[in-house]
Amino acid sequence: MALTVLNPATEEPIAELEQAGVEEADAAVARAKAAYPAWRAVAPADRARLLRRLAALVEENAEELARIESRNVGKPISGARGEVGMVAQVFHFYAGAVDKHFGETIPVAGGVAATFREPLGVVGLIVPWNFPLNISSWKLGPSLACGNTVVLKPAELTPLSALRLGELVLEAGIPEGVVNILVGKGSVVGQRLIEHPDVAKVGFTGSTEVGRMVMQGAAGTIKRVTLELGGKSANVIFDDADLERAAAAAPYSVFDNAGQDCCARSRILVQRSVYDRFLELLVEATRGVKVGDPSDEATEMGPLVSAAHRETVASFVEGEPVFRGAVPEGPGYWYPCTLVEATNDDRVAREEVFGPVAAVIPFEDEADAIRLSNDTPYGLSGSIWTRDGARALRVARATEAGVLSVNANTSVRVQTPFGGFKQSGFGRELGMHALDGYSEVKSVFISTEG
Ligand code: NAD
Repeated sequence: MALTVLNPATEEPIAELEQAGVEEADAAVARAKAAYPAWRAVAPADRARLLRRLAALVEENAEELARIESRNVGKPISGARGEVGMVAQVFHFYAGAVDKHFGETIPVAGGVAATFREPLGVVGLIVPWNFPLNISSWKLGPSLACGNTVVLKPAELTPLSALRLGELVLEAGIPEGVVNILVGKGSVVGQRLIEHPDVAKVGFTGSTEVGRMVMQGAAGTIKRVTLELGGKSANVIFDDADLERAAAAAPYSVFDNAGQDCCARSRILVQRSVYDRFLELLVEATRGVKVGDPSDEATEMGPLVSAAHRETVASFVEGEPVFRGAVPEGPGYWYPCTLVEATNDDRVAREEVFGPVAAVIPFEDEADAIRLSNDTPYGLSGSIWTRDGARALRVARATEAGVLSVNANTSVRVQTPFGGFKQSGFGRELGMHALDGYSEVKSVFISTEG
């Protein structure tokens, strides 16, 4: 069945692709399985060299990759360039990690126990549409570094950058069959990867709803899973914070990627004593977000990914918001930056909007901030703004989330573990921690008795 890929900023088709079905998924798993013994046997320094070459090719083709991503996802070209830069860094990092993924020796009676980090075999990687290339690299880097072979399924809406990356993988000299990219429906190809007996693990990023199905499907073959799921993160602003800085930064922590970001700080919790002042600053800062043509160098926010998604996002805004920005006229799935005053019990504060809509919620004191911040089924990310270092640490330790920042809104770094608590999933991507998700620990006892 053919798949028409659209540019969300123009609603025009930009590619027609053939979609894989179950048969093609099985064939891709068979190719990955056949390629596995030789790939795991590649000497670590050579595997590192291949990953380093892939990183260099991403750098050499960075502008083309950024333009593909910008046209297919509707993201501003400046942001897309930054994302491609990170993809190269990810492959550099895991090139360096290949021969630093050590085992241990453990003192035991009668000999020595040693541990080895063994690859899993064929891994299935299922990727969402919001950061297609970045999230592909977060999974590919550690998978390949550990010696696994891969079948990667990009999202139906945004498969183009992963397909180009697949070509660069071959150009880098990584053997045929090690990385297989399949365009197809989640309910068909994704489902097959989850159930396939020759797939040892599924690395999944997507919604909590589908994540639940992945976990259920994986039970049949006791498949390992890493689940990077939804979020409803809090940006907590205490009254002793640098309010100007916090307010200037807050819009970009929700409206970046048009809010289609699992780490979006879509609940802005503000201490009541500075609530009015902060809201004033926040509205001004949000007014400054440049929304428009993603190919324009100055654009900070593009359209949403699809018409259907825009309808879902719009359904969260009831009544008159405290601020609603402007959007371009004409084609494109535009939705304005929107600020609503809310309580933590409102739907807009409980469910993941995945669009440029932020709920501003007052709190009384530190205990109240922690209570509200944790009053969500999710636990992915969040920010704490305060000048009190001890408070920052107390609140960070009490917050049930996997990735936090203090006086900043960043969540993702190549070197540091990324992943969720609670229904935001489990397992960690990025940094050395990601290698744990793509390898098994084997313990071997060597007798020293004559
Ligand atoms: P989605 O769950 O609809 O789809 C994700 C991927 O799963 C796609 O490739 C899709 O084709 C596939 N899929 C769908 N149904 C499937 C099935 N039955 N079996 C197997 N695979 C299936 O998510 P989306 O709409 O593409 O992405 C948005 C969601 O992803 C949001 O909830 C967001 O928070 C989450 N996300 C999480 C992270 C993170 O790291 N925690 C990062 C980005 C996005």
